[in-house]
Amino acid sequence: MAVFIKLLGGGGEIGRNAIEINYNNNSILLDYGVIFNSEIGFPLNVNLKKLIGIIISHAHLDHIGALPLIYSSSINPKIYFNSMTSELMNLLLLDFLKVSKGNLQFDETGILKIFEKSSNVPFKYDFIINDFSIKVGNAGHIPGSWIISVEVKNKKILYTGDFNVYDTKLLNGAEVIERNVDLLICESTYACVNHIDRQKVEKLFIEKVLETLENKGNVLIPSFAVGRSQEILCILQKYNIKYPIFLDGMARKASSIMLKYPEYFKDYNLLKSSHDLAIWVNNERERKRILDEPSIIISPAGMLKGGPALNYIKKIISDSRNSILFVGYLAENTPGREILESHTFTTETSKEKVKANVYWFGLSSHTDMKGIIDYIKEVNPQKVMFIHGEVERIIEMSKLIKNNYSIDIILGKTGESIEV
Ligand SMILES: [Zn+2]
Ligand SMILES: [Zn+2]
Repeated sequence: MAVFIKLLGGGGEIGRNAIEINYNNNSILLDYGVIFNSEIGFPLNVNLKKLIGIIISHAHLDHIGALPLIYSSSINPKIYFNSMTSELMNLLLLDFLKVSKGNLQFDETGILKIFEKSSNVPFKYDFIINDFSIKVGNAGHIPGSWIISVEVKNKKILYTGDFNVYDTKLLNGAEVIERNVDLLICESTYACVNHIDRQKVEKLFIEKVLETLENKGNVLIPSFAVGRSQEILCILQKYNIKYPIFLDGMARKASSIMLKYPEYFKDYNLLKSSHDLAIWVNNERERKRILDEPSIIISPAGMLKGGPALNYIKKIISDSRNSILFVGYLAENTPGREILESHTFTTETSKEKVKANVYWFGLSSHTDMKGIIDYIKEVNPQKVMFIHGEVERIIEMSKLIKNNYSIDIILGKTGESIEV
């Protein structure tokens, strides 16, 4: 009997990651996420009768958002993740349900049932699901993120999830937990892109923060709640910034979860001290006073599609002493992208000119092309399947790799099944 891999989502797109591994009429599932295009997209259906287990790489919605669909059925497969991922999943799934305002095909019951069937395993742990032997290790992407290795019938498969090979303030770079595998399933968000050296980016970022504050302005840092907000706090702490730093929105809840698990961090003391120094914003009254003096505000949403960052934006954009510092990916058709590209901010009733300074810093938690290639060389796989990336970029990177190394490359296609 052979081992088959079927992509249920994530082929040539960034989102709805879902991978089914089949052997002997049983299957396990790695991630089951959603994609945010003009509307929310789901992965292909799983054959629930064969499904004996689900393993989750990390808590981002593009890896977990479709799980409640499975748990809204009468079949409740056992699911494996670590405690950090579990708590962050609960936070993000309930928020997903709330902001989708009844437009999803599941309700809270589908979310709660995930956690009834769950097995919280330690961050570093090996476990077995029937014929499938599972090993996990640090992916360096967000707190709790795993690289997952699956061995079944002498075939070894390694799945990067989302990964970052470079150290950040929060996390160490991704681990190589298995070598000489038959198949490496590799994310490729930044195929064909190489990041600028992180130290340099951090220095430029701090320069702009200080420039604004010394000019009596306010700094707004729209930021993703999970991971990025905490990373920014750590950078500010490391550079010993002596101005008030406010933390707002869901970033506070994510931080409260993270602070409970010292073992997941590279430097927990830095994380703790940066949060001790920050001022956690609790209500509207506090929000109103924050802009009265030079200060830094870290708040979701990272692309300004919602969240308390919007409470500050009108005042921030109206004064040329202020700055908006974007620190993450800005999708097209989002207010963040509009501000960055055209210095305007459009609401339902008006279009306003942005007088504040606007900057973007590449502080990504995904590895770049150099990191992807170095990781492949370390793992030395028979074949690589690229997923979680844009098709044109993947094709270009694949050509480059094929010209230089003798590795078989597969462009992952949703719906296709391949024998390992
Ligand atoms: Zn992710
Ligand atoms: Zn992802």
